[in-house]
Amino acid sequence: MPEAIALDNVGKTYGSVTALQNVTFRLEAGEWLALMGPSGSGKTTLVNLIGCLDQPTQGSVRIDGVEVSTFTRRQLTRFRAEKIGLIFQQFHLVPYLTAVENVMLAQHFHSLADEREARAALEQVGLGDRAEHLPAQLSGGEQQRVCIARALINDPRIILADEPTGNLDEANEAIVMDLLRAAHRAGRTIVMVTHDPDIAQLANRTLRLRHGRLEGSNTAELATLR
Ligand code: ADP
Ligand code: MG
Repeated sequence: MPEAIALDNVGKTYGSVTALQNVTFRLEAGEWLALMGPSGSGKTTLVNLIGCLDQPTQGSVRIDGVEVSTFTRRQLTRFRAEKIGLIFQQFHLVPYLTAVENVMLAQHFHSLADEREARAALEQVGLGDRAEHLPAQLSGGEQQRVCIARALINDPRIILADEPTGNLDEANEAIVMDLLRAAHRAGRTIVMVTHDPDIAQLANRTLRLRHGRLEGSNTAELATLR
């Protein structure tokens, strides 16, 4: 399988805070990775680097074979819009835009806004009848499904989900996980941060961070890097 994500000796510091160090791993296209670790261990920092929202202070980040650690902000934004769908724990919907407008917002960076496509994406997550509603008129689970529609609208090869069910009840957790499962079946590569071992089980691989380092990053893992 072709490589989707490859990190080589990645480090990230914020001033005197070391958020990540010596992070090396490779993910093949179509893999589903669960990223675990205690609070503050660097999970979100790692997702932000893979998601082209931030850049490492050390090492190499290759996404779909492209080195992004030396990209300019503008290059990162464009690359992200084409390759990556982001799902956050805190939804990050624009409060004064309707569901369909929130989904169309993601399209703007990619191609001309296409309202019909955005509505179809909402239908796919079971929210076809809620397109005109504002985020405040939707439950947490519904808001997260709008986020998933927004993440999938550009047909990204890679989906990053940072604790996607962290703020959801069990029923909505099941719906969101079904949508991620479908994305995986469709061949997408998924990186999912979770604290829940049952949810991590759905992935085909688990990596754990501790104090900014990958646990058990052994020579077998390193040997598959190149
Ligand atoms: P996790 O997602 O595993 O809880 P984070 O990646 O959010 O962990 O944070 C890892 C470490 O980096 C923490 O010590 C956190 O305080 C620090 N950190 C994260 N973002 C910043 C930032 N923008 N500025 C300073 N420190 C940060
Ligand atoms: Mg986090």
